[in-house]
Amino acid sequence: QTTGFTQDSVRGRALWSLVHDEEDARALQSLFESIDTARFPLQHETKFLSIHGGPRIVQWSSSSLPDAQDAVRFVVGTGIDVTERRQAELALRESEERYRELFESNLAGVYRSTGDGRILDCNDSFARILGYESPAEILALPAAALYDAPEHRDAFMDLVKDRRVLTNHEATLVRRDGRTIWVLENAVFREGPGGGLVLGTLFDITDRKRAEEDLQRLAYFDALTNLPNRTLFDDRIDIALAQARYSKQPLAVLFIDLDRFKVVNDSLGHKAGDELLRQAAQRLKSCVYESDTVARLGGDEFLLLLPRLSNARDIVQVLQKILGRFRQPFHLDGREVYATVSMGVSMFPEDGADAESLVKNADTAMYRAKHQGRDRYETYAPSMNEKAMERIALETRLHRAVERGEFVLHYQPIANLASDRVVALEALARWRHRTQGLLRPDLFIPLAEETGLIVPIGQWILRTACRDLAALARGGHAGLVMTVNLSARQFARPELASEIAGILEETGTSPHSLAFEITETVALAHTEETKRTLETLRALGLKVSLDDFGTGYSSLSYLKRFPFDTLKIDRSFIQDITTSSSDLAIARASIAFAHDLGLRVVAEGVETEEQKALLVAHGCDEMQGYLLSPPLPLGELETFLRGR
Ligand code: C2E
Ligand code: MG
Ligand code: MG
Repeated sequence: QTTGFTQDSVRGRALWSLVHDEEDARALQSLFESIDTARFPLQHETKFLSIHGGPRIVQWSSSSLPDAQDAVRFVVGTGIDVTERRQAELALRESEERYRELFESNLAGVYRSTGDGRILDCNDSFARILGYESPAEILALPAAALYDAPEHRDAFMDLVKDRRVLTNHEATLVRRDGRTIWVLENAVFREGPGGGLVLGTLFDITDRKRAEEDLQRLAYFDALTNLPNRTLFDDRIDIALAQARYSKQPLAVLFIDLDRFKVVNDSLGHKAGDELLRQAAQRLKSCVYESDTVARLGGDEFLLLLPRLSNARDIVQVLQKILGRFRQPFHLDGREVYATVSMGVSMFPEDGADAESLVKNADTAMYRAKHQGRDRYETYAPSMNEKAMERIALETRLHRAVERGEFVLHYQPIANLASDRVVALEALARWRHRTQGLLRPDLFIPLAEETGLIVPIGQWILRTACRDLAALARGGHAGLVMTVNLSARQFARPELASEIAGILEETGTSPHSLAFEITETVALAHTEETKRTLETLRALGLKVSLDDFGTGYSSLSYLKRFPFDTLKIDRSFIQDITTSSSDLAIARASIAFAHDLGLRVVAEGVETEEQKALLVAHGCDEMQGYLLSPPLPLGELETFLRGR
């Protein structure tokens, strides 16, 4: 039945002729050839031919029936068909091998550990992920020791303790070299003798985690400066406010705006602008503690969070430090560029109870700092919202003033100190405001600059000054030079020179009787462009003065670099010239230096005879000030000139 042969067909045949493998058949044959020496019982497993296809494996046990002389006459054998059993065993062995291979060559780290977390067995990947040469080096290591963060280790230990599974658990492990890696782990606890087993796999997901961290950075940090962005600032201020409420310590928010970012960006290009922002970010960071937050709000605006101030006065020190740092030049593309900051401060709890109002009020305060002339800070006071409203109202009225022609010019004479003769006039703008009377330029020129209204206003001023000069000449006061102030915004326009040429022609004014005054800050705004514009103006035959000398942050060396004709020493130095030896020294040095370079020197704001005498003694060329005359409307000026 096993082989499928009939009894008749096998009877009389040699046993070995039914054996499947030739070798086995020969061995069986030779056994029977020397059967007398065989040791019975014989046990063997032989594959027999069958009609079913493949051979059948039969387990045999044979005994001999010897005769009286002890010779073997018969052999009796019983066989059991073990084919299925052997096949099942083979399949099992194969599958075990396959699993072994799966285990050993798996990209995932695979391990088994004891129930108390001691590694029994692991594959190459597991060793490699953890930075070991081979699995042997890790065996018997406590798995818990591989974890970096206590909470991840606890998750593993809980698994063991509670006999649970761990599914797609992200954890950090420490490699042999000390590096931290992120892994995704799956593990299951199996009950068993000796405290059970843990079977687990690990995937190295460090790359993915790093990419996620980069994304996080993008969400919370400004890409250009690497500073926290508004989102992160808001997170931090919320935490800081909670702490401040609890500790009753003051907290400050600073709203910071670069004063001349747009000018730099427009004239030197975006790359320089970006560089300025990066350097500004560094400067701000260098002024505060690590625990303070410097954030970029966007553009040239920054926010600073100062938590845990020991007292409100600390903040003044920080503010002074920032102002000082930003008065130093920036170096962009080998150029020196000046960019100061305007800052607004709001304090918790006085100026706001939450993040939003603190930031908003610091912003309002910053605007006031801008309005007060920049390069300064202002603190928030509740009345400031009114001030901000006032500003908006002023801006609206300024637009209307341009349309309605509400501006007038006053002229202040400038006299030669040696001859005492009036040689020049300075045109000074006034706004005849409908309700507030005659307004000084300081109240509206900065606003006109900011809004761009300075361009039409400036054109009107120039045209009017030229017309009035012509009228004075017709009235017998010829030979005077008219000087007109130019602001940064006007000076930055490439059309400036051609517009001036047009106005000169239109009013029949000689270029030699027109001069311009620019301040140091204007001159330094964009050095190369400034130089070119100055040269163009001078090529037209116009004269250029450096106004308010000494109030900016430039040095005398700038005088050498730019082609000026005249230097005007600022009123603040003249004021104390008779009492302050250092102010006198500055005035004296400026005069000498300017003369060396072939410049004329005008002293501004001369109010007393003593001041005048000192200036004469030190060789100053001209003077301007109340001693001679305040700025006057055209009619009064004519009377003044006739009187001399
Ligand atoms: P600035 O060019 O330095 O003008 C001189 C300022 O000093 C004038 O103030 C003048 O009234 C004042 N001053 C003259 N002598 C004395 C004196 O003896 N004592 C004192 N205490 N002050 C004296 P003002 O007219 O208020 O002008 C202020 C500034 O506004 C000017 O400073 C100038 O920078 C700017 N500004 C005036 N008019 C114009 C203009 O038409 N265009 C532009 N862009 N800016 C102008
Ligand atoms: Mg001036
Ligand atoms: Mg001046």
